[in-house]
Amino acid sequence: MQGKLFIGGKWLAPQSGKTIAVIDPGTGEQFGAIADGGAGDIDLAVQAARRALAGEWGRFTAVERGRALMRLGQKILEHYDELVELESRDCGKLLATARNDVKLLARYFEFYGGAADKVHGQVIPYQNNHAVRVVRQPFGVSGHIIPWNYPVQIMGRSVGAALAMGNAAVIKPAEDASLSILRLADLVTEAGLPAGAFNVVPGYGTTAGAALISHPGVNFVSFTGSPQVGTIVQQETARNHVKCVLELGGKSPQLVFADANLDRAIPAIINGIIQNAGQTCSAGSRLLVQREVYDEVVSRVADRFAKLRTGTQNQEVDCGPIINARQRDRVQRFIDDAVKSGARIAAQGALAADLPASGFFVAPTFFADVPRDHLLAKEEVFGPVLTAMPFKDEADAIALANDTDYGLAAGIWTENGGRQLRIAEGINSGQVYINCYGAGGGVELPFGGFGKSGHGREKGLMALEEMSLTKTIVHNFEP
Ligand code: NAD
Repeated sequence: MQGKLFIGGKWLAPQSGKTIAVIDPGTGEQFGAIADGGAGDIDLAVQAARRALAGEWGRFTAVERGRALMRLGQKILEHYDELVELESRDCGKLLATARNDVKLLARYFEFYGGAADKVHGQVIPYQNNHAVRVVRQPFGVSGHIIPWNYPVQIMGRSVGAALAMGNAAVIKPAEDASLSILRLADLVTEAGLPAGAFNVVPGYGTTAGAALISHPGVNFVSFTGSPQVGTIVQQETARNHVKCVLELGGKSPQLVFADANLDRAIPAIINGIIQNAGQTCSAGSRLLVQREVYDEVVSRVADRFAKLRTGTQNQEVDCGPIINARQRDRVQRFIDDAVKSGARIAAQGALAADLPASGFFVAPTFFADVPRDHLLAKEEVFGPVLTAMPFKDEADAIALANDTDYGLAAGIWTENGGRQLRIAEGINSGQVYINCYGAGGGVELPFGGFGKSGHGREKGLMALEEMSLTKTIVHNFEP
């Protein structure tokens, strides 16, 4: 699996003959190598996927597809410890986060396996002596571009739904985190998915990724990643008139009203920003607090932030490393620039004393009283950085929450039922959590963004509609 591509059910060497180093973010040390796939490899993978559609995979009934996906879910659980270890080391995830990710990976295949044979069409009343059926069919070859922050979770949600609908998948994992997705390839074969239904071509975005989104043999693209690359994906797929689903970034607000249950809200707010070292698309990175309780909330959040500890994946800490040196520098620059511009650090967590000098770490940082037009209030940091701002009343809360180009998730903390609904209605966001912040979990729940956070929905049964086409069949049976 290391240094290889998985195409048509076989492990092949990349045409470039090159590999990309696999680095442990906790130590900065290389512990493996993945293939540096390119356009020629993507072409082979697309051809293999087309052969699968024309062959055994294309002939699978919905029941057979469902069974194979459920078997894959089972295989994942049988290899749970190994996958957790791999995902944790490769991405720098704390073990608790990696455990949750691998459980969700298994759940996605279980969920979509169970759903595969429950996708019904429609019968529509029409003219006399005509029968109209609307049926669903796969697009054909689906391309999946996966980021490094939640590789197995995101691959499971996107590829699980695509396979359930009968597409054949070509997956381009992130260059920084491909190992666990590659490890799955053998499990896919053991689960009985025919060769070519599931292909993995690791490589860089500008080579393998660019080749996948522009390949004329690809019929649908699911992209999860940055808004900048999302724009490229939309442009490239448009050239071939191919549909894409874009799951992009966020600057998600947590709104705390004066009547909120702070004992419940504060731990959830902290977890919502430090989970996965803040490298979560739906991280609750803006803390918006009603003036009456602003000082109290800032002081209580600051107390807890100051106690947060950052360390390697297997240390007893709250926050793990950042994926690579470039991202670590980017997050650190946000913090340094904010300080230079006069932003006030209300609290900063500690780095563990015994960190490897070559790992990639940033101390969780909590900024208070940030002006509404400050970069910290607008831009996705993608690190453990929380920004607090006060608001006056409901109208001001909605205006401030919506004062962003993004719209991925929002948390609302209030005991007032009418206000819960008014704020939920007023916020432009694909997910709204009331008195909880469950971003990421819930395979059953449709997920996606407004505005710069992307379009289309994954997760839940809605993803099955996104990943298939309808065909309207009109049948004239006049005598
Ligand atoms: P990224 O956009 O740099 O990379 C994502 C993937 O796209 C990688 O596999 C990369 O190789 C590939 N890629 C890069 N350039 C490409 C190109 N020109 N053509 C095709 N593919 C290309 O993003 P990232 O830094 O890996 O991830 C962080 C971003 O992803 C953040 O903005 C985060 O919010 C977002 N994200 C969103 C969700 C969601 O569900 N909405 C989930 C996780 C991450």
